[in-house]
Amino acid sequence: MTLRSVLIANRGEIAVRIIRAAKALGLRTVLAHSTADAGSLAAQLADETVEIGPPAAKKSYLNIDAVVNAAKSAKVDAVHPGYGFLAENAEFADAVTAAGIVFVGPSADAIRLLGDKVMARQVAALAGVPTVPGSDGRVTDLDEAIAIAARIGFPVMIKAAAGGGGRGIRIVGDADEFARQFPQASSEAAAAFGDGGLYIEKVIERARHVEVQILGDGTDVVHCYERECSLQRRRQKVWEEAPAIGLPDDVRQRLCASAVALGRAVGYSGAGTVEYLYDDATSEFYFIEVNTRIQVEHPVTEMITGLDLVQEMLKIAGGATLSVTQDDIRIQGHAIECRINAEDPYKGFMPAPGRITQLVVPDGEGIRFDTLLFEGYDVPPFYDSLLGKLIVRGHDRADCLARLRAALDGLAITGIPTTIPLHAALARDPSVTDGCTHTRFLEPWLETDFAQLARAREDA
Ligand code: ADP
Ligand code: ADP
Ligand code: MG
Repeated sequence: MTLRSVLIANRGEIAVRIIRAAKALGLRTVLAHSTADAGSLAAQLADETVEIGPPAAKKSYLNIDAVVNAAKSAKVDAVHPGYGFLAENAEFADAVTAAGIVFVGPSADAIRLLGDKVMARQVAALAGVPTVPGSDGRVTDLDEAIAIAARIGFPVMIKAAAGGGGRGIRIVGDADEFARQFPQASSEAAAAFGDGGLYIEKVIERARHVEVQILGDGTDVVHCYERECSLQRRRQKVWEEAPAIGLPDDVRQRLCASAVALGRAVGYSGAGTVEYLYDDATSEFYFIEVNTRIQVEHPVTEMITGLDLVQEMLKIAGGATLSVTQDDIRIQGHAIECRINAEDPYKGFMPAPGRITQLVVPDGEGIRFDTLLFEGYDVPPFYDSLLGKLIVRGHDRADCLARLRAALDGLAITGIPTTIPLHAALARDPSVTDGCTHTRFLEPWLETDFAQLARAREDA
């Protein structure tokens, strides 16, 4: 069956992105939105809209019954969940399917299996993918947990099996600290994710975050090479690149092959990401998790491969086989994405919703801006602070960085503070331009180098 219509169960820039991709394929687009988003760019672009509830996400975007009822009343063929919200909720995928509607993503069983980070580690290990040294399964007993941590060697990470979005992770340095943190971690995970399950991983110091984009159609799986997302704050990605910086070709081949092996092991369908930590001192990589959805940073992969990953997802959901073979997918150039948030980088990244009085978007060869913004838009205070993503491609990384600096200088969002100055500073920082960064780089840099820039700015 070829899809004729799709309901977008999301908001913000990804809702806009999905609507554009669906329209390009000739689909009727229906946006499910909260009352706070009635005037959003996505609502203006969609062919139809259905209101699903009040601003609070729990009562709208996270309300499974409301979203499924909207899809039924709009008589759509499919539902695209975007990222965040219900995108990795197996119960939601089941409810959509039970209503006779196609869920754009992998099967509910695959989401359930890979969404549990402990089970995903086991699937990875069975598929021959190296995992971070850690506990074999969930750990419940404190004494046993401490014994495992001591065997792995401190510092270790206590991670929630159901965690995500950078939440549900803590680092502990010794057995005493472990004994204090472990019970807290469990009750916090139970409260935040409805599942108190925990596991333990060794801390990989000075690692890079490297992840492989995969696409599957239920029969075959291909990879679309890797992205690097080492610039993180609170374990959330701030700046992403493709391909990874300085990754040797033989490591790239093994890394990508391991992600494909994992995808094949579960008969993966749709777009997915296999995340790893990469230690460039030893050239070893270690699996950390799978995200069974489109990711925020997917555009950097699109920029270097020429693929449209959201269109691919929609075609696969409609029953098509993969439109590309592995040999068709090639890396051309280098791409960088900067997440532009409604946050004040000079004031501890305080969220800063409000009215956009002026918007100037740079254009030119290799420049893309995925956004929910328009002049006069009121950024609502209820949701994630992502305003848009500036994505730039160059012939190589140096060319990409030069174009990125110019593009950042040409991007103006007036009315509210944004993280543009942070990116402008990063794009000129020698460690960043030399590519010698890792997942623990950005936070201390913010306290030192960026704080110094902020003081100079105040003095001026
Ligand atoms: P990506 O993995 O696509 O790079 P993020 O990790 O930032 O991006 O996650 C995408 C969005 O989904 C963010 O808004 C993040 O807060 C949210 N998110 C991801 N997983 C969870 C989760 N388990 N619980 C709550 N929010 C989540
Ligand atoms: P989430 O589901 O919240 O995205 P991940 O398991 O993907 O959680 O980890 C998020 C980030 O936390 C990683 O990108 C990395 O920066 C850090 N991290 C996770 N596991 C480890 C580890 N074992 N050692 C060092 N850093 C880690
Ligand atoms: Mg992750």
